[in-house]
Amino acid sequence: MFSKIVIANRGEIALRILRACHTMGVKTVAVHSTADRNQKHVGMADESVCIGPPSSLDSYLDIPKIIAAAEVTDAEAIHPGYGFLAENANFAEKVENSGFSFIGPRAETIRLMGDKVAAIEAMRASGVPCVPGSDGPLDDDVERNLTIAKKIGYPIIIKAAAGGGGKGMRVVHTEAALNNAIKMTQTEAAAAFGDGTVYMEKYLQNPRHIEIQILSDKFGNAIHLGERDCSMQRRHQKVVEEAPAPGITDQQREKIGAVCVDACKRIKYEGAGTFEFLYDEGEFYFIEMNTRIQVEHPVTEAITGVDLIKQQLLIASGEELKVRQKQIKLSGHAIECRINAEDARTFMPSPGTIEIFHAPGGPGVRVDSHVYDGYKVPPNYDSMIGKIIVRGEDRETAIKRMRLALAETVVSGIKTNIALQQMIMLDQGFVSGGKNIHYLEKLLDKD
Ligand code: ADP
Repeated sequence: MFSKIVIANRGEIALRILRACHTMGVKTVAVHSTADRNQKHVGMADESVCIGPPSSLDSYLDIPKIIAAAEVTDAEAIHPGYGFLAENANFAEKVENSGFSFIGPRAETIRLMGDKVAAIEAMRASGVPCVPGSDGPLDDDVERNLTIAKKIGYPIIIKAAAGGGGKGMRVVHTEAALNNAIKMTQTEAAAAFGDGTVYMEKYLQNPRHIEIQILSDKFGNAIHLGERDCSMQRRHQKVVEEAPAPGITDQQREKIGAVCVDACKRIKYEGAGTFEFLYDEGEFYFIEMNTRIQVEHPVTEAITGVDLIKQQLLIASGEELKVRQKQIKLSGHAIECRINAEDARTFMPSPGTIEIFHAPGGPGVRVDSHVYDGYKVPPNYDSMIGKIIVRGEDRETAIKRMRLALAETVVSGIKTNIALQQMIMLDQGFVSGGKNIHYLEKLLDKD
């Protein structure tokens, strides 16, 4: 195991990584911007290095500064967390070339998955079910594009190969609108991602978002840890996540899980990862793979008992995966609510000083948050101030626990989305379970 690692992130995930390290006897180096001097994990880390001003471009996204921090502190590895540089293949490559271990998959894998056209091709070759589509990039051949779309059937969606964060996508309902839409998406993709490559997929109208968590080591051992349902979204951002997904049978889980495990072995995946699927009328359709730990990983931890960050560290340090597939037993039901510093109705960010923070507790309640009384939420970063995760023996119990946990939570001085989360936990549609990715937005529109 590593003796010391750099945590190249901030907020709740930096704290989560620090906690895993300290329980494993691994020393930590926190790197932080000047706005983040008073982050909880900075105070708890064995060492800390200020890497620049608040702007993430000059701090958390500045590759040479992060590598320099590892050099001056004699660290052995770098954990990227999520966001920032977590899925940047060049970063992973530079970390390794500078003599450190990157806690995540090989740069080559990150690069493959970052190109959605290549990722889909690799997945299809591994037997992973994908959305019917163009099987490759679109070119300027108008007739060819029309033929592909006709074969798939409208509506279709044009997507940027290099896209991310819900950007670079356009839905097309009619033949007349197709070519213009392709051109516009190409232009936008070139401007936003520096790569104008686009492809076409069937637009699934009312799917759910269901994803499979996997772990895969350097020796060809891979397991899946079941699924998460992340269909409660607003503007493609997840708001509530749960595991297992309501209505998914053991047989369905075993089948899609085995497909993901096979794909991991085939692409020689190393680390923790997530296969994201759209789920429609009983079928799974792969959309992308995330080559990092995800915000919603605790719901999987809650029902499997596996510490996913610890596993990431073990795999990166070259250990063989000790957990076997047959040891993975899903127990109970877990729900996560993301708590954001934002207005619960307008969704406007609400940075500022938190006067009082009171976390909920009790059986089955976990709070992953870096905030405390007097904590200043900087305006420079993501508005998430923490996550509440509950587990119950069944979904009904978990929902009841979440209602109570939300009611117990006190955050004063700034606005939060707690009222929105309370509304969702009381909503009959959510309570009945299995709603699609448009459900929450429709619910908000009705308000
Ligand atoms: P990103 O990397 O930008 O998150 P994804 O490929 O994961 O892009 O897609 C983001 C979201 O866009 C999905 O969760 C879904 O809501 C919608 N989406 C993407 N592809 C399709 C599709 N073929 N049909 C319907 N919705 C889609």
